[in-house]
Amino acid sequence: MLRQYELVEKVKAYDPDADEEMLNRAYVFSMRAHGTQLRASGDPYFSHPIEVAGILTDLKLDAETIATGILHDTIEDTVATQDQIERLFGRNVARLVDGVTKLSRIEAQTESERAAENFRKFLLAMSDDIRVLLVKLADRLHNMRTLHFIKNPDKRRRIAKETAEIYAPLAERIGMYEFKDELAEIAFRELEPLAFESITRRLEQLRESAGDLIPLAIADLEELLADNGIRATVVGREKTPHSIWKKMQEHHVGFEQLSDIMAFRIIVDSIPDVYQALGLIHQRWPMVPGRFKDYISTPKRNGYRSIHTTVIGPAKRRVEIQIRTHEMHGQAEYGLAAHWAYKTNGTASPRENYPGCRTCWRSSTMIQARRSSSSTRSSPCTRTRCSALRPKAS
Ligand code: MN
Repeated sequence: MLRQYELVEKVKAYDPDADEEMLNRAYVFSMRAHGTQLRASGDPYFSHPIEVAGILTDLKLDAETIATGILHDTIEDTVATQDQIERLFGRNVARLVDGVTKLSRIEAQTESERAAENFRKFLLAMSDDIRVLLVKLADRLHNMRTLHFIKNPDKRRRIAKETAEIYAPLAERIGMYEFKDELAEIAFRELEPLAFESITRRLEQLRESAGDLIPLAIADLEELLADNGIRATVVGREKTPHSIWKKMQEHHVGFEQLSDIMAFRIIVDSIPDVYQALGLIHQRWPMVPGRFKDYISTPKRNGYRSIHTTVIGPAKRRVEIQIRTHEMHGQAEYGLAAHWAYKTNGTASPRENYPGCRTCWRSSTMIQARRSSSSTRSSPCTRTRCSALRPKAS
């Protein structure tokens, strides 16, 4: 759990003018309010709002949002009142905490898919201040990360279903792909344990027979770009079991027919570099028809911009490649949160300075990356599923 001074320091690092006093007061207030309550994990309940606040600092959000993260369960779960929060932390924080509390109260009770769609719309409409939604998503993300501690399988299922139907699509809707991916992945593991197991096993078998092809393909791509004078960061990963499963469902194919299970990202300095990189790749390897998408000339509705193409070639495999600038990359992963952080503190999105782990492309914020290593360039992460940590098949 983040200590008080660590949390404050994290905020100060990207927003030197942040109200330190308020953050300290919120920390102590929440700790006292939650008292001896415990989480399903056996941890003090208080560790939950602090972890939520930690996720929000990773998004470099303003002090009011961080305080809201720290306080978000106090009205619902303790004797603290709205008036108290307003007196101690001001009107804005009180309004935000109230918003999160209201969302928590109307949560659940969504059985059919149609109801889920209505509920998503409702959540969006309720959150006239987008920060309410960001705190709610961080709250859900931490609850999903600790889902396995809940003993009652029906309860786990209900939470996972709600996440898959409401919160993951909502994160996607506002362009927060990294949140969406992690939420969907944990929910999938809970809801379809057999499919999850079988796909994970297939991926392992494939790795054993062919070796880890990701570093090979990265090397191929890097060499091509460097030879042509394009400065680029290349990261790659196996697609997640959830996205593989979704493809199998959509196209009604089995795992064996699914040829592209690796995806790569090329991050370059400018838009001309993006198109030059694309040209080089298409000249070098044949592209797969029907898979090319230019979301730079035509962005998605949530603002997402990137080039997507699939080619047959790097490491002698069919691979999906996304090409974008650093700026697009930051926005692609954090969407609205990135816009908000930029608006309030002028900070660049976390992604802009840190392209993520080389072999699973989680950003520094979602992993405990070994930041100490040399620079802000990609470094191996400590995520259990990251291939950088897997024993290499020879
Ligand atoms: Mn909570």
